[in-house]
Amino acid sequence: MKVLKFGGTSVGSSKNITNVVSILTNYAKTDKVICVVSAVGGVTDKLLEAGQLAQSKNSAYADAFSNIRTIHLNIIKELIPTNNDAVLEEVETRLGALKNLLDGIFLINELSPKTSDKLVSYGELLSSFIIAETLKSKGANAERKNSQELVTTNSNFTKAEVNYSITNKNVQDYFKDSTFDITILPGFISKSITGEITTLGRGGSDFTAAIVAAALKVDQLEIWTDVSGMYTANPKMVKQALPIDKLSYQEAMELSHFGAKVLYPPTVQPVLSLQIPIHIKNTLEPDAVGTIISKDGSNVNNAAKGITNISNVALLTLQGNGMVGIPGFSRRLFQTLAQEKINVILITQASSEHSICFGIDEKDAISAKSAIDTEFENEISLNKIDPILVESNLSIIALIGDSMKSHQGISGKMFSALGKNNINIRAIAQGASERNISAIIAQKDIKKALNILHEVFFEGNTKQLNVFITGVGNVGERLVEQIKQQRKYLKENLKINLRVVGLSNSRKMIFNDEGLSLKNWKEQLANEGEDATLEGFYESIKNLNLRNSVFVDVTANKDVADLYAKYLKESIAVVACNKIACSSKLEKYKELKQLSYKYNAPYLFETNVGAGLPVIDTLNNLIASGDKVTSIQAVLSGSLNFVFNNFNDTTKFYDVVKQAAAEGYTEPDPRIDLSGVDVARKILILARESGTEMDLEDIENTSFLSEAGEKSDTVDDFYQTLIADEAHYQKLYASAKANNSQLKYVAEFNNGEAKVGLKEIPEGHPFYNLEGKDNIVMFYTQRYPEQPMIIKGAGAGADVTASGLFADIIRIGNN
Ligand code: ADP
Ligand code: ASP
Ligand code: MG
Repeated sequence: MKVLKFGGTSVGSSKNITNVVSILTNYAKTDKVICVVSAVGGVTDKLLEAGQLAQSKNSAYADAFSNIRTIHLNIIKELIPTNNDAVLEEVETRLGALKNLLDGIFLINELSPKTSDKLVSYGELLSSFIIAETLKSKGANAERKNSQELVTTNSNFTKAEVNYSITNKNVQDYFKDSTFDITILPGFISKSITGEITTLGRGGSDFTAAIVAAALKVDQLEIWTDVSGMYTANPKMVKQALPIDKLSYQEAMELSHFGAKVLYPPTVQPVLSLQIPIHIKNTLEPDAVGTIISKDGSNVNNAAKGITNISNVALLTLQGNGMVGIPGFSRRLFQTLAQEKINVILITQASSEHSICFGIDEKDAISAKSAIDTEFENEISLNKIDPILVESNLSIIALIGDSMKSHQGISGKMFSALGKNNINIRAIAQGASERNISAIIAQKDIKKALNILHEVFFEGNTKQLNVFITGVGNVGERLVEQIKQQRKYLKENLKINLRVVGLSNSRKMIFNDEGLSLKNWKEQLANEGEDATLEGFYESIKNLNLRNSVFVDVTANKDVADLYAKYLKESIAVVACNKIACSSKLEKYKELKQLSYKYNAPYLFETNVGAGLPVIDTLNNLIASGDKVTSIQAVLSGSLNFVFNNFNDTTKFYDVVKQAAAEGYTEPDPRIDLSGVDVARKILILARESGTEMDLEDIENTSFLSEAGEKSDTVDDFYQTLIADEAHYQKLYASAKANNSQLKYVAEFNNGEAKVGLKEIPEGHPFYNLEGKDNIVMFYTQRYPEQPMIIKGAGAGADVTASGLFADIIRIGNN
């Protein structure tokens, strides 16, 4: 004999019921089958809603009833299209009784727990009747038995306790003589010894099936639901969750107690001592293996088996100096809660005995507070203890596994992963069995926390990076394209799952928390994007609250740079090619560095100097390994190098600058390059990264521009001065030529001082042959005193800058 239970979704539509029918008829070919069914998916909730409406004198309860009626009648008509009069008539009679009950609730505007149980019992009564009639209509030797006549309980309405001796006898007696191949039983519903309708608690159909399976000592209990087993985490919250092949009873109990709704927690009790295995299967995918829960558990070499969560938890704290060393406080506290029938989910007590902290269902918080404050009224008035403190909007997250006790470092790994992602932990509990480590965190962080822990414990080191890019102009566009091309490689080879979740230009922004497809991202941004603001982009990223979030600034905008601090404070990493923040006031630079450290959020800006060249990374590695920089000599402006390499007595200064701008080598405002400010910013950043504290004003900047050029107010005016002052620039060229030299714009840092300016570089000098838009940086350090470490290559251009940004993003992924 087999016991199968089908849940709400499994019997939620005529299509799914057809699946159920075929599974049952197949099983019945070889064995007698008992099938426990839930109400049609969602109907229990709908019945309760109708009851609430009626109770509050809202006549909309009649519409809610109509909706319930329609759902059932449609299912019957689809399942039994012909000769269905008798079935329809019977169902209408039951629906009529349901309507009368709702009318009654409306009249007296009261919905007691007793009436509520009567009300919800219609869900399972109707579904079991319809399924049995469908089987009969298909010629099966099937019958429906009302399990209220079998399962007997006390009168604890809405969550009654089973009287096993009566129930077991009822079940055994009934099935001893039963000749039917398939017996359908409504789950969840029962009757008290005194004959009143009771229920076993929400989700209780699983329990009914376990009770029957244990009473009959069957070989196996099958729970058929809408997912392929018990997963490493709720698959609706964690996309990457996977079904667990095998679990021990204890693990399954722990997982279900801590929120894995797929199994109603008491279900394990009746079958545990008889060691009847529970097999969880998917009605929608009957071939999937599912999960076997048995005494053996699994031999998989993974200490943690699953992660669960309980939402809507309140944390209550009882504390005060008067508690120390005096026995009896805890007893009184928990006795009070027990009297109020309040279930305690989690307890922690500090060893100082100064406080006891416990988690309960948020809906019980008010009654718990008032009962405890009353119990300790005397001590509170004597200031021995404080009135109880209540914190709400919390959740419990729990990591579960039998063999966690024999593995070290699991809690360390768990809390450091949460901490790294800025998830604040309010309380921690670890059961003495060490099968469960739980933490209380803010409700808003729950999805993020589940995903972080899942990644750390179950995803074989694959790390998801959630990238948000602002500024998709020249460089930004290249970056998106490079990411699009490399995503597969990164996943397969570096185990980085890089997702672009948000994109923004100055007009529009788009998000997709599953990751944008990037296929037609430009069209998507233009057509589907919402209006963009810098704050709006930040708020959306913050609210998405995804782990390993990276904000990428591909603008040259000060207002964007001003938001870095806010990002870092949310533990969102910042990658920028925008130099403004790093070259702003020293306090600002230091603040960002400190925030990055404090909130564990990388702040990377490799492209601030030398575009894609690994200048800053190399410098950081030198310093980190104990080297000291004594001098830096560099050509750091790709655009100026381009300009002076192409400017001579046959070209015009204006034309060359215009060309550099057109090729995208200059900043949007070319004066930033030509005035030397851009180079000054770069050497400032290198000096700071070398450990010298200085500001932009400390850098000596000798301008080569004409006086009019320096004074120009607008970009257009500036260009005009280049035309007018051609002679000024030709003079610079002629002097260099006369000295057999090349003009190079050089940045220098020596013994704590920095300067920038145009220089005539003689033949033989490493800068002399620097071509095109190349950059060169020479580091003289304690370890490289005579022959400098040299980094040289293209120092401007959209593709190389984008690849520098990309490298920073990957650094975060590898971190
Ligand atoms: P049924 O109506 O079949 O009893 P339930 O809704 O009670 O189904 O339980 C199945 C649901 O449990 C799944 O759809 C899933 O959302 C949820 N769930 C929560 N945690 C887990 C988990 N660890 N593994 C599988 N499902 C889970
Ligand atoms: N129908 C009941 C509920 O929704 C029992 C169950 O489905 O297990 O809670
Ligand atoms: Mg269920």
